Amino acid sequence: MKKNAELTTESDAEEVTLEGMRLTKVGRGQYLAHSMSKPEVAYMVDVSHYGGLGSCTCVDFVARRKPRWSEVRKPRDTFRCKHIRRVRNYILDAIIGHYAKQPRRAGEAD
Ligand SMILES: [Zn+2]
Repeated sequence: MKKNAELTTESDAEEVTLEGMRLTKVGRGQYLAHSMSKPEVAYMVDVSHYGGLGSCTCVDFVARRKPRWSEVRKPRDTFRCKHIRRVRNYILDAIIGHYAKQPRRAGEAD
């Protein structure tokens, strides 16, 4: 069993554009998320930071969402900015796409 599925499923594209947001992979679970309104601006996203909440350098996360998360310490989407949510969705889609290509176990329906 592979320990980190994303190691093999995430690596196909170093740069993608999802619904208008450009993401550039810089490490495992780490992406630069480019601003949609200012393409020259990019934020650093790390999806595994803070026990799986994720982190981002944008003002929305740093000034508004992270302080609220600090009170409850549970990783919830309401404490994540749109950059973290977009990167998480991208990684999740890649992992599920990887699963979808694998043969199903005997007895399972297609
Ligand atoms: Zn952000």
